[in-house]
Amino acid sequence: MRRRQFLGQPVSAGIALGGAAGLPQPPAARGQRTDLPARFTPSAYSVPKPENSALLTPDYFTYAEDLVIERNRPGKPHRGKVLAAVQAHSDDITLFCAGTVAKLIDEGYTGYLIRLSNDEKAGRTVGYGVVQNEIDNREAAKELGCKKAFSFYYRNHRMDDCAVIEIRQRLIFLFRLLQVNTVFVMDPYDHYDENPDHLVVGRAVESACWMSGTGGGREYPEQLKAGLKPANIREKYYHSRAPQGHNLVNRVVDISSYIDRKVRANIANKGKGPAGDAGSRLRRELARQGKKLPLLGESDDSANFQYVKNFLMEDFRVFGRQFGLEYAEAFRYIGPEPSFQDGIRKYVAAHAVPL
Ligand SMILES: [Zn+2]
Repeated sequence: MRRRQFLGQPVSAGIALGGAAGLPQPPAARGQRTDLPARFTPSAYSVPKPENSALLTPDYFTYAEDLVIERNRPGKPHRGKVLAAVQAHSDDITLFCAGTVAKLIDEGYTGYLIRLSNDEKAGRTVGYGVVQNEIDNREAAKELGCKKAFSFYYRNHRMDDCAVIEIRQRLIFLFRLLQVNTVFVMDPYDHYDENPDHLVVGRAVESACWMSGTGGGREYPEQLKAGLKPANIREKYYHSRAPQGHNLVNRVVDISSYIDRKVRANIANKGKGPAGDAGSRLRRELARQGKKLPLLGESDDSANFQYVKNFLMEDFRVFGRQFGLEYAEAFRYIGPEPSFQDGIRKYVAAHAVPL
């Protein structure tokens, strides 16, 4: 992702919780200015921004009427299932949906982190960027509880120059090998995203999901002959990115219990993104000026942790507050689709008569 300048937007001091349906109130109800005449019904809601830092939630969300709040589930209800968190860059998953990935792994999923670029544009030099971000991807996967991390090493910010069928084939191979059931990826229809890699990855994952399954039984048949089994991917969590963007949301996940895991996964991203060692760097800079920020604590570790939690995670706290949650992440969730053949079979069983 890329840092943008914070666009100050007036936000009422006390943002109201959602209405009866738990949905966000329109700007006027939140005390924000709107020039929208009363005869119009808003088709998008502005996402409230924290005062001190804002770069991780888009400007607008459109909410589906059947929005679901996903809460903690006791026990290990996902035991035996596999998730793949796929990202263009080493900080995409950690910044935008690490809380939900950590939650599902804690609830029984086996997780894998798959990075598709080489992140060469984020580092002291191009070469250092490649090495540091390779390390970061591996360390972030550990913090999230993933079993393994993969990297495809496509050149950073040049992925629209890559053959999408090659990217897709590599994904299909991994999805079949790992027997993936659920994917996380940036929304393939992320509006107004300036980063060319994000949309390439989102669309490659989307097509690889069904082509790796039984519906794609004739896709790359040598993989199946060699012993791989079709994947059965029935759930997709699409997350947003573009700070200036606009996304459809039908699922809000309560990540309050996993916010510290998310913080630590972001601290692992030393080479890229706004987290990493930013807290300890600020602490040292202030010390050179003969100052300190009590919020950052008395060590580099505490400074890194408190910086990420109190500045960067504010977007998710302010967003979650609208739904009565301490911290939350937003998704376009696509769940298991009903089998049309089952419906026909049921109809035939109920209505077939003797000749
Ligand atoms: Zn990115």
